Amino acid sequence: MTELPRDAAFSTLAIRTGHQPTAEGEHSEPIFLTSSYVFDNAAEAAARFSGERPGNIYSRFTNPTVRVFEERLAALEGGDACVATASGMAAILSLCLGLLQAGDHIVASRSLFGSTVMLFNKYMARFGVETSYVPLDDEAAWAAAIRPETRMLFLETPSNPLTEMTGIGRLADLAHAHDCLLVVDNCFCTPALQRPLALGADIVVHSATKYLDGQGRCIGGAVVGDAQRVGEDVFGVIRTAGPSLSPFNAWVFLKGLETLELRMRAHSENALRLAQWLEQHPEVDWVLYPGLPSHPRHDLVGTQMRSGGGIVAFQVRGGREAAWRLIDQTRLLSITANLGDTKTTITHPASTTHGRLTPEEREAAGVTEGMIRIATGLEAVEDVIADLERGLS
Ligand SMILES: *Cc1c(COP(=O)(O)O)cnc(C)c1O
Repeated sequence: MTELPRDAAFSTLAIRTGHQPTAEGEHSEPIFLTSSYVFDNAAEAAARFSGERPGNIYSRFTNPTVRVFEERLAALEGGDACVATASGMAAILSLCLGLLQAGDHIVASRSLFGSTVMLFNKYMARFGVETSYVPLDDEAAWAAAIRPETRMLFLETPSNPLTEMTGIGRLADLAHAHDCLLVVDNCFCTPALQRPLALGADIVVHSATKYLDGQGRCIGGAVVGDAQRVGEDVFGVIRTAGPSLSPFNAWVFLKGLETLELRMRAHSENALRLAQWLEQHPEVDWVLYPGLPSHPRHDLVGTQMRSGGGIVAFQVRGGREAAWRLIDQTRLLSITANLGDTKTTITHPASTTHGRLTPEEREAAGVTEGMIRIATGLEAVEDVIADLERGLS
């Protein structure tokens, strides 16, 4: 087995962590497509089942391919434990089931992924866990919303689709002063751009479906954190309730991690070029991109975040009609709400991801009729710009 240097850099960890070659001497990580495992004898089976001896029993609990993905992501996020899940939503659900109980309270950012809000409001609420929402970057509002029964603060930075941001370290201090956990959904940045645990957060959740895969193939997720809460409490939920990651999907993700740093750098470079071009275009009212000096929290780029990431939001002049016209005139870009792909995607949040909100709710969320979100892929950015120029002029 390769030995990693003690101070191995990000890419080295991303490429080398976790793989233990079998007797075949394979170079690339194999896919262990097996639901169960065999034992040498009855006593060995008994010892594994009792937990007296470590080892695989059943792939709902553990699987060698899933384990490589977990060890790799844990190393990249700087966590002691990682538990892979069947989707990003399964990661958030398992986190809640593992760490919360009836009567507990969550304070969450108002700018969260839609299904996360639905999970908290419709399902966790039914089991006695209540959630309050606050503006992401309003520290006083976070502090005011904390109650004696608050157990968890939950946020995404940057948020979708407006790329709102906040300082993770300050909210970690606030959480810890009140005996709460800070949980960060790090889907938009990945550890290649932002490492919430190093900034003071307690737990990171991922939708691996996005940038960890990076080519739009598989659904999956993960929870990363300490050995007790994640390695025992959240793992216990996975093992018992069963939202486990398939070995095939784990293999796609662990290979995706090998190129993560390169890809995130390229996504950011393309997004910055696109944002700069949009910002000087006469048909564009405003652009929100963390890497632009005009972004209200541009100060966090280079400190908390290595670069601006791949998501650009902007408003075209002329409301919904102009936004739809721009989208419909593209020939290269994919009209889809997904992100984290090599293919650049374009979406109109007001009529898709945020279409079920009332006009007032959309207004509060800052999702205007003329607003468009682009998730830059890895095509040549000149071609993406040319595709947009047609519909803008
Ligand atoms: C996509 C997404 C999720 C949910 O992940 P799935 O893999 O689709 O279940 C959660 N959070 C964010 C920020 C996302 O973009």
